[in-house]
Amino acid sequence: MKINDICINRNKSNSCKNLNVKKCTEKLCSFAQTKEQAEASRENAFKRLASLDIEKQYKIAVKYYDCKMPWLKGSVKNEG
Ligand code: SF4
Repeated sequence: MKINDICINRNKSNSCKNLNVKKCTEKLCSFAQTKEQAEASRENAFKRLASLDIEKQYKIAVKYYDCKMPWLKGSVKNEG
């Protein structure tokens, strides 16, 4: 079993890439996320983003995704 099979945010030194904690709290942590859960969450987020009107999508792309829209096929660049 790999170190991050339990949670993708856990690294080799048993610290957390996501939370401001000294050591991973493992089973007590409600933020633990497997790779499959992370992929499902990302997919759901992208579906939600794709459902927004295009102006909102552009604003989010500029602010958070370096002007890219990875939730659309081909990752369209914002031209405006
Ligand atoms: S289980 Fe919680 S504390 Fe541990 S790596 Fe995952 S998110 Fe961080």
